[in-house]
Amino acid sequence: MAHGRTFEIAVLPGDGIGNEVIDATLPLLERAAQGAPFSLRFSSHPGGALHYKATGQALPEATFEAARRADAILFGAMGWPEIRYPDGTEIAPQLDLRVRLDLYAGVRPARALPGTPLPLADPRARNVDLVVVRESTEGLFASRGRGELIDDAEARDTMVITRRGTERIAEFAFRLATRRKRRGRPGRVTCVDKANVFRSMAFFRKVFDEVAARHPDIEARHNYIDATALDLVRKPWDFDVLVTENMFGDIISDQTAALVGGMGMAPSGDIGDAHGLFQPCHGSAPDIAGQGKANPTATILSAAMMLDWLAERSGEDALAAAGARIERAVDAVFASGRIRPFEFGGSDGTKTIAAAVASNL
Ligand code: ATP
Repeated sequence: MAHGRTFEIAVLPGDGIGNEVIDATLPLLERAAQGAPFSLRFSSHPGGALHYKATGQALPEATFEAARRADAILFGAMGWPEIRYPDGTEIAPQLDLRVRLDLYAGVRPARALPGTPLPLADPRARNVDLVVVRESTEGLFASRGRGELIDDAEARDTMVITRRGTERIAEFAFRLATRRKRRGRPGRVTCVDKANVFRSMAFFRKVFDEVAARHPDIEARHNYIDATALDLVRKPWDFDVLVTENMFGDIISDQTAALVGGMGMAPSGDIGDAHGLFQPCHGSAPDIAGQGKANPTATILSAAMMLDWLAERSGEDALAAAGARIERAVDAVFASGRIRPFEFGGSDGTKTIAAAVASNL
């Protein structure tokens, strides 16, 4: 019987394949917690575009409250192309959660799993194991909804970089690199910016350097965003942790997901000082929803990240061990070469992939 601390997990499956990949993942979390000195208690909450269509609310206040009170949030996907707010914008409660819970660090790991097809032919691409840390509260996105259009002749959006925003994201990146270094990674943070052109970016770099000085055990590097775009194709295996402004992070995290096989393989965390939300990088995928074809790997790896984050916060090492067991089980499935998701041109669906992971746990 489980004993020790119970961690409350608010589960927000959302729309489309969000439900399918979450259904596939929860039993794996339960299995990973079996016999462990902690337990996980899941509660599922409504929200998303279809819920909006049915009720007029995309993120019910009760769902938000449950997410706020929980120890961690596991999120599927929300949004549906044809369902929009009256002003034409998409239903994206994940953005509201990001703002309301101050989830300032967008954490996007990209690790090449053994046996998976990769777009780069160079054998060193197998060694790609990096994390993009995207600042999620300011940067160019500070202008979201506030851009100016002047006389239909000129439009302006403003980049906002604050000392507080940059310090906390850089601190986050160095702590992450330190944690990864204990697991054999090089212990390196690359500041990705455009400090040669923009004052805002020069300030980002200056504050980054101040934070770097407090972490002498971690190597601090700089790379301009354009050079980073080049290097992510030329030698992505050289990167460990990259930290960057919101818009740059938005772009390069899609690029890094592609490096390791695509959206169905890319997990993510949106993390603040008080809350953490974990979700696959992909959306609700209406084109394949309800067909059992979604690859649940990104969600399963997001769940493993969630356990690792809970371990760091609570000091309960067994949580990190459970997260590592899930990752190893996923690796073993792909390394065996017996599983090929639809995404990679195979015929293994959500349930088959999840069952294969379960049998390795
Ligand atoms: P959003 O804007 O909500 O992130 P999107 O419009 O970028 O979503 P997705 O829903 O992520 O799009 O889907 C993009 C493409 O990738 C679709 O063709 C979809 O079928 C495919 N896809 C996304 N996730 C998966 C998955 N887990 N398994 C298989 N294919 C997927």
